[in-house]
Amino acid sequence: MARIVMKFGGTSVADLARIHNVARHVKREVDAGHEVAVVVSAMSGKTNELVGWVENMPKVAGSNAPFYDAREYDAIVASGEQVTSGLLAIALQSMGINARSWQGWQIPIKTDNAHGAARILDIEGADIIRRMGEGQVAVVAGFQGLGPDNRLATLGRGGSDTSAVAIAAALKSDRCDIYTDVDGVYTTDPRIEPKARRLKKIAFEEMLEMASLGAKVLQVRSVELAMVHKVRTFVRSSFEDPDAPGMGDLLNPPGTLICDEDEIVEQEVVTGIAYAKDEAQISLRRLADRPGVSAAIFGPLAEAHINVDMIVQNISEDGSKTDMTFTVPSGDVNKALKVLSDNKEKIGYDVAQSESGLVKVSVIGIGMRSHAGVAASAFRALADKGINIKAITTSEIKISILIDGPYAELAVRTLHSAYGLDKS
Ligand code: ADP
Ligand code: ASP
Ligand code: MG
Repeated sequence: MARIVMKFGGTSVADLARIHNVARHVKREVDAGHEVAVVVSAMSGKTNELVGWVENMPKVAGSNAPFYDAREYDAIVASGEQVTSGLLAIALQSMGINARSWQGWQIPIKTDNAHGAARILDIEGADIIRRMGEGQVAVVAGFQGLGPDNRLATLGRGGSDTSAVAIAAALKSDRCDIYTDVDGVYTTDPRIEPKARRLKKIAFEEMLEMASLGAKVLQVRSVELAMVHKVRTFVRSSFEDPDAPGMGDLLNPPGTLICDEDEIVEQEVVTGIAYAKDEAQISLRRLADRPGVSAAIFGPLAEAHINVDMIVQNISEDGSKTDMTFTVPSGDVNKALKVLSDNKEKIGYDVAQSESGLVKVSVIGIGMRSHAGVAASAFRALADKGINIKAITTSEIKISILIDGPYAELAVRTLHSAYGLDKS
């Protein structure tokens, strides 16, 4: 007997037939004698619809107040998961399985106060553990918790992954299975490169980079939690026949295991390629080249909660003036330009130029630590396809390259084959 947390994403619960199919996956584990908690997302498209409703509410006339109250945003967008948790509980009951739904506040899953992007602080698991011991399946609404202000709080887009891993840690589960519309983590997004290969295992550090550089198969925070709490996490498909051979394998279920790097016997130099769309670049021309300039630029941007990513500063020709270029999410460009112009005197630049619709493509692999020339191969491969590089950043285990939006898919496929990822 094991204790298992099973998470099903939006496409897996997109309609009643799929919810019924999810119930069959759960039944398989229950019939095998395991204690099961399930975490569900909203039906696919639902959260987007709810967010759209909030964002399209009229603004208060003549007010500079925030567009909407983030606590009400959370009250609205958390509702999608409330529906699917109830529906799945009913589907399970109809199969003769003892099950009930749990909202985040009922457990409670306690979060901090950052509405819309809250972090889980603590989960009170005793009640669920007791009921699982009595044979009841807990169906938990993902993506939501309860803030210190006693209000609903949501965990940021893709947050049900984080709910699942956090619950698996709190319940001391043997395994956390993230069921989605692909049968594992691939060398790159299989929607962009059909030759992408499924990985049997991927190291926590690599998955962290993949997720934070755009591979949305897992929310970044869920990978952090899995790494810290050593949760045995698998990414697998909900679309396979729930009763196909091997689906109920306790130790080696089909899918990709996220694990410590020393569990991976044959470590490749490059493990995967990720991409993030909707990046924008801002350049400040003829900046004064003196101490304090970077602080004058990035301090106010940080205060405005604008996430700055790649930063490139040119060496000044005459020792007095230089250029600085950095990237922000496309959606934040206007806000960033406003902050910069409000601080123009203090910063001391001539003009600010911006360009939106860029894409960041990243090459990720722990093996890079001990191999030279990995970046050079990327630059050569992109040059051969005539793709211009606008900015580069590197770390020990990744190289990120900024390019024009229309080249995104070509760049992903080019890098994927440059490192031989399409060959097994
Ligand atoms: P869910 O609704 O189940 O949470 P998501 O849409 O959030 O599913 O994540 C699954 C999607 O992630 C896949 O359909 C796939 O297009 C995308 N994806 C991006 N990069 C990868 C990758 N390296 N491996 C697998 N899937 C990836
Ligand atoms: N439903 C939420 C979203 O679409 C959470 C999730 O699916 O993980 O972002
Ligand atoms: Mg997701």
